[in-house]
Amino acid sequence: MSADRCDVVVVGARCAGASTALLLARAGFRVLLLDRVDFPSDTLCTHHVTRPGMRLLDEWGLLDPLLDGGCPTMTRLVYHAGDTVRLAGEVPATERLRGIYSPRRRVLDDLLVRAAVDAGVDFRPGCTVVGLLADGDRITGVRYRSHTGPEGHVRAALVVGADGMRSSVARFAGAPIETEHPRLTCVYYSYWADLPTDFELYARDGGHLGAARTHDGLTMVVSYFPQAEFARIRHDPMSAYLDSIRAAAPELADRMAGSRPVERLRGSGSQHNFFRRAAGPGWVLVGDAGHSKDSIVGTGITNALRQAAVLADELTAAGLDDAALRRFAARRDEEMADGYRSTLDFGRLEVPQEQLNRLRWMQTDRSATAMFVAAVAGALEPADFVPSLEGAAR
Ligand SMILES: Cc1cc2nc3c(=O)[nH]c(=O)nc-3n(C[C@H](O)[C@H](O)[C@H](O)COP(=O)(O)OP(=O)(O)OC[C@H]3O[C@@H](n4cnc5c(N)ncnc54)[C@H](O)[C@@H]3O)c2cc1C
Repeated sequence: MSADRCDVVVVGARCAGASTALLLARAGFRVLLLDRVDFPSDTLCTHHVTRPGMRLLDEWGLLDPLLDGGCPTMTRLVYHAGDTVRLAGEVPATERLRGIYSPRRRVLDDLLVRAAVDAGVDFRPGCTVVGLLADGDRITGVRYRSHTGPEGHVRAALVVGADGMRSSVARFAGAPIETEHPRLTCVYYSYWADLPTDFELYARDGGHLGAARTHDGLTMVVSYFPQAEFARIRHDPMSAYLDSIRAAAPELADRMAGSRPVERLRGSGSQHNFFRRAAGPGWVLVGDAGHSKDSIVGTGITNALRQAAVLADELTAAGLDDAALRRFAARRDEEMADGYRSTLDFGRLEVPQEQLNRLRWMQTDRSATAMFVAAVAGALEPADFVPSLEGAAR
């Protein structure tokens, strides 16, 4: 690969970009990966990687290094709804995946980047893409500014925008937003030391909470509020965060009283729900750059990994041509549609009475409880779950 020419330039080196670069390099393409920040680095995220996402990491040979690097395995899930429902159980294990995983992003993203470099990717941190090169309506490369040197450019047969929800590549390429819904929640989280927890979820009308163990012996505790409350909460988020935990999860609040927050409170009131056009001549978007949604269901990382796999699959089969990009775009829209709809539903932060009644019934039935735990842990497809429960209810 010459300094200013490659097959594919990927902009953004986190879960979408680094995994795309890794897979394309393994398929034999010459790949340049740029990110404006230095790695390892954290980003706003509560780290939950669903089981399909963990399976992809395993397929790519990254599960063992992730676990060896200290990512804890949570084998037990506890789900509370309102004041009366508590469903708890062991998460079904497979030979490779023993539980639920919430790796810190500075660890996961760095692992992906290092695997990409091992596969032959030229990774340049500290490089901000400031424009695209074009030949007519075809994108032919990027212009970037490095923290340490002058502005440069790279020509490529394909530019991949993996640069997040506010993607510059999407803006420069003129990728329109094709589907959009209003913001739903706002979210705050922090890390606590000496706080023993399972993977814990607390759902009630007007607010959801979660607790999960992550790297360095820390527990991440997160609280979701309706978007309408953001203007009020943002002035004193710590009070709102602690009050919400005391109200919805008093027993967790008691455990937290014996613990201590070890990092500042982080949060966002700006999680957008949209699909952008996924591709055009010489460019394609993966991850949040092309499709972003509220983090309430914790699937953004998995979706980024899945999109990387689909894109690599299409490009490996057909080469870097526009028809392969169109097939990727169609598959992305189809594969992400159900998850998008359920996110819009969850994001309302409602627990309807009918759902509470169903959960109360499940509480009285051991196999229904076990199935619910498996489904929430992602170890069971919802399609398997609903008919089985209907059978159990009969
Ligand atoms: C509060 C919160 C909690 C979340 N919790 C979860 C969760 O528990 N589980 C889950 O699956 N998802 C979660 N998400 C969503 C998840 O973080 C995103 O879906 C995921 O990070 C998207 O990855 P990405 O690689 O597409 O983009 P990003 O992670 O946004 O990475 C984009 C990268 O592009 C780089 N970049 C941007 N512009 C440029 C430029 N011009 N030039 C060069 N580089 C550039 C940035 O530096 C960045 O490194 C959460 C999100 C939020 C906000």
